[in-house]
Amino acid sequence: MDIHSEDNLKFHADPERCKYGKVEYISSDPDVLSVIPDETDKLTCKLVSFDLEGTAQIQIRQVQKNGVSATVFVKVEDKSLIAELKEDAERVDQLIGQLDLNQLSYSDKSSVEECRTAYNALSDRALQYVTLESNLVRAENEIKKIEASYQKQAEAVADQVDAVGEVTLEKAQLIEQCRMAYDALNDEAKQFVTNLAVLEEAEEELDFCRSADELDQLILSIGEVTLEKEEAVMRVYSAYSRLPESAKKKVQRYGILTAAVGVINTLKADKAEAERQAEEARKLAELEEQRSTEENTGYGIVYWTPKGKSYHSRESCPTLSRSKTILSGSVSEAKNSGHGDPCNICAGGS
Ligand SMILES: [Zn+2]
Repeated sequence: MDIHSEDNLKFHADPERCKYGKVEYISSDPDVLSVIPDETDKLTCKLVSFDLEGTAQIQIRQVQKNGVSATVFVKVEDKSLIAELKEDAERVDQLIGQLDLNQLSYSDKSSVEECRTAYNALSDRALQYVTLESNLVRAENEIKKIEASYQKQAEAVADQVDAVGEVTLEKAQLIEQCRMAYDALNDEAKQFVTNLAVLEEAEEELDFCRSADELDQLILSIGEVTLEKEEAVMRVYSAYSRLPESAKKKVQRYGILTAAVGVINTLKADKAEAERQAEEARKLAELEEQRSTEENTGYGIVYWTPKGKSYHSRESCPTLSRSKTILSGSVSEAKNSGHGDPCNICAGGS
């Protein structure tokens, strides 16, 4: 029976040979239920519910006799609460029902987890109304199975990556095989590979090894260093400069490269010095040529006195300071007029 309020239910107890006014009601649990006898007819009484739900036993006894005359068992239920519990359970059943057990894939993992969370959130009483719990357990086992298989595949790849160890050019094939094995996994299995970063680092390191090796080949191709190879050497050096630091460290013939640059610089300096000396010699020869031409053809003005034997290159020569008449002309004119002796002081004579 449901008891929603104290006026809800009345009952008439009629124990054998019971007399009016001589019965008493004893509730086994007054917190759940008690009885209030009617003032005028104590055989009629009403039940009063104090708590929402529970079970109580009402004993009806004749006061003057020992022993129980009648017993009423009363169960008090809250139907609206039960409806709510069923509704909650139904919601969880609907969630579980959406799982397609025959076509479950790893992408359903979060849906399965959502079902489990909803299931666990139910009260113990609501759980009693869930009907699809076994489906949920089956789905969870299926997900675990898929997960275990992905984990196994991923571990195989991870072991392969771990086996690479220190990266050298010789490990190139090994590293490429790791990458292929990783790429062959599906996206979900990839999530279980714990050392993808190690593989990526190995690939980067391998790139450095390859760049360094290419550069070593370039250095080797320089051969004997001559000035004609300046551009080639500089091209190799600039290729070296552009390498990442990690690749630079792996170049084995760097010493040969710097030596080649040194040789080029020395050769260039030698060549420049030789050119400078040649230019100087050429200028000297030119001057000499000019001088002798002047001497031979009489260009350039010289000075002499009518009685002197010398000619002077400067009119201000001290030996001319007292001469009143100073003649001038070319060297040949001086010579032709008997003044062909160059002055010791100003005209380089001796
Ligand atoms: Zn002079």
